[in-house]
Amino acid sequence: MILIDGKKIAAELREELKKEVSNLKVKHNKVPGLTVILIGDLTPSQIYVRNKEKSANEVGLKSEVIKYPDSVEENIILDKIQKLNKDETVSGILVQLPLPKHIDRQKVIETIDPSKDVDGFHPMNVGNLSSGYESSVPCTPLGCYLLIKKIEPNLNGKKAVIVGRSNLNGKPMTQLLLKENCTVTITHSKTKDLKAECLEADIIVAAVGIPELVKGDWVKKGSIVIDVGINKIDKGIVGDVDFKEVSKNAKAITPVPGGVGPMTIACLLKNTIDCFKRSQI
Ligand code: NAP
Repeated sequence: MILIDGKKIAAELREELKKEVSNLKVKHNKVPGLTVILIGDLTPSQIYVRNKEKSANEVGLKSEVIKYPDSVEENIILDKIQKLNKDETVSGILVQLPLPKHIDRQKVIETIDPSKDVDGFHPMNVGNLSSGYESSVPCTPLGCYLLIKKIEPNLNGKKAVIVGRSNLNGKPMTQLLLKENCTVTITHSKTKDLKAECLEADIIVAAVGIPELVKGDWVKKGSIVIDVGINKIDKGIVGDVDFKEVSKNAKAITPVPGGVGPMTIACLLKNTIDCFKRSQI
């Protein structure tokens, strides 16, 4: 069984990105810039943003975090985004979610210039991804995709089952695997027989938010299992997959923590660099 070491693969990706940034600096005499807007003082958001800033600096990106109090008015944020859209030193804009209740999340997402939308949430990027065109792809599913490709470079004709249909994870994951010629089934809370669906899969991606939902006898021998879930329970942090039992059948599996998580930030850096490169054409 292969333990998919997301930490190591993410570190390798960051190393490649660092070299790429240094080459871009020579070629264009400037580096890609990532601006993160952080609203409020939610501790998990603060930690995520700190990690994003640290990783961005490590690969040589120009990085900036703009902080607002929880009470900030929506129009202040929208005005700021519009200014950042016009700022040539900013290649990527990310507004850390969740937002305070009085700020309309969709309005914020749609105000970001799609060419600077490093989260891949803008409807234009969602549409481009589903049409098979070039687009920014949400960071977590992009990370899952890169992990799967490390294990199995040729995905032609593989059966993939995605558990969870969120806009953040399940849906973009489906599009990425469809593009690779997988036959994809997307499942959700109303799926009748989730075990039977999973048993058909060569690849399972679980993004649900239910601790250890995917059991050992749901997984056929030789499958690749990617666990997106992060769930805090009494015994610690676990994923959406029963790691111990599923490991007995899977050919390759991601641990939680240390699997998909580290890839998410590395892919944010990749998206920022890709936005910069597209803007230089
Ligand atoms: P979400 O928006 O809450 O979506 C959950 C999805 O799971 C929904 O589509 C829901 O179906 C489906 N679902 C719920 N119960 C189910 C069941 N019994 N059987 C099958 N499907 C079921 O969640 P998310 O934002 O995608 O996040 C999923 C997990 O990933 C969470 O644990 C989150 O913390 C984690 N996460 C990790 C990372 C990372 O970097 N590793 C990043 C983001 C999220 P319906 O649509 O029918 O309600």
